[in-house]
Amino acid sequence: MDVTYPERAEGFRAEVRAFLREHLPPDWHGLGALPPAQRPEFERSWRETLARANMLAVSWPAEFGGAGLSPIEQVVVAEEFERAGAPAGTENDGFGIGLLGNTLLAAGTDEQKSYFLPRILSGEHVWCQGYSEPDAGSDLAGLRTRAVLDGDEWVINGQKIWTSAGRTANWIFVIARTDPDVPKHKGLSFLLVPIDQPGVDVRPITNAAGYDLFCEVFFTDARAAAAHVVGGINNGWSTAMILLGFERGAEVTTDPIRYRRDLDRLLEIARERGRSSDPRIRDELAWCYSRVEIMRYRGYRGLTRFLAGGRPGADGAISKLIWSEYFQRYTELAVEIIGADVLAPPGEGNGGALKVADVGTENSARCWSEEFLHARAATIYAGSTQVQRTVIGEQLLGLPREPRLDGGPFRDIGRTVSAPGPVPVPVPGPVPAKAG
Ligand SMILES: Cc1cc2nc3c(=O)[nH]c(=O)nc-3n(C[C@H](O)[C@H](O)[C@H](O)COP(=O)(O)OP(=O)(O)OC[C@H]3O[C@@H](n4cnc5c(N)ncnc54)[C@H](O)[C@@H]3O)c2cc1C
Repeated sequence: MDVTYPERAEGFRAEVRAFLREHLPPDWHGLGALPPAQRPEFERSWRETLARANMLAVSWPAEFGGAGLSPIEQVVVAEEFERAGAPAGTENDGFGIGLLGNTLLAAGTDEQKSYFLPRILSGEHVWCQGYSEPDAGSDLAGLRTRAVLDGDEWVINGQKIWTSAGRTANWIFVIARTDPDVPKHKGLSFLLVPIDQPGVDVRPITNAAGYDLFCEVFFTDARAAAAHVVGGINNGWSTAMILLGFERGAEVTTDPIRYRRDLDRLLEIARERGRSSDPRIRDELAWCYSRVEIMRYRGYRGLTRFLAGGRPGADGAISKLIWSEYFQRYTELAVEIIGADVLAPPGEGNGGALKVADVGTENSARCWSEEFLHARAATIYAGSTQVQRTVIGEQLLGLPREPRLDGGPFRDIGRTVSAPGPVPVPVPGPVPAKAG
């Protein structure tokens, strides 16, 4: 691992800091310090500023609207924006730029790149991710949404669920079954589908903390252009896995920054409530500190590999386990420190931030109570804990693989498995964990 950044990157870091000083409001204390009603307007105009300054996708080629820099500059932007508490884009940009755009650069046709990439950056196309279904989460390749070619269009029927930021999107990338007569991983295609059409119905779901952060999406004879299939017909599994590689690598150096900041907030609340001298609480806080340091050094290691052209692969499963289990344990500690107040928590919430609260958010009992609830989901999305452990066991430790009983044509799955024997456990595909 190399814990120093190249000189070029440090020069660019100074430029990014100057940009932030120049463009953020003079009294900037982080997005969370703005009154909740003002945040959407700030985020909208801030995104326009970033688009104009070519700051949204600095590593994309200039011909597609990027700044033509390298991945290290993209990492520097993410780190500096995180430190300043300034959004580096919207949640939908995470799907449009971070996931789909990078996947198109890796696997899209020239026409797809020229058409979609500039529209993603301009904000004309706003994206969400249609992978999971009611019966296909960990077992993603078992999905049942069907797409059938009809002239120059795909006709799509089925349902997606847990679609984050679906309410604010106008396009969705969908994995659909295009051939049920071949094994389940082989008959899938990755389609780009406009949401603003009569055949697509988006219905919000309210989560435990009371926020509408994800949706169900229903497709009834919805249409997508025949040419809008990424990576080739029936080759959608491989495209889907390229995209997941970007999802897992994305926050490797920013996570330690944000968890360190949140740990400082936890220390503050422990002191305020007179719990910081309790030896058991101190032990737990020390454990938290060491975990964040582990994340930091793993971040450097992941970054070194990424800059050398590698993808996180199975090693990403270790990072996912570390941050998601940490997130739950330290928010449980917060709840313990705060005590009975979390039952009817006073103060402001965390504004629906899925991970830690935005910079500047009030350090209130309500904020911690919501963060505790959001942390419950962390061991489910982006690949559940159990699935990550299987990945580590099979791909890193070389343990025997789980039995596979679903290798035949997808159409026959469920019909043929009736003989007594091992319980048919759905096993994810070549790069198992899931998105979202
Ligand atoms: C907050 C949030 C946001 C999300 N956003 C999106 C999104 O934007 N787009 C999207 O497509 N999806 C999204 N998801 C869905 C997410 O990817 C799935 O929830 C996840 O893949 C798990 O699938 P599941 O919920 O169907 O659970 P299941 O796969 O049914 O799992 C249920 C339980 O069984 C265990 N299990 C399953 N298979 C195995 C196995 N082979 N071995 C051992 N244990 C197993 C799991 O670990 C889990 O404990 C989101 C989920 C959440 C919670």
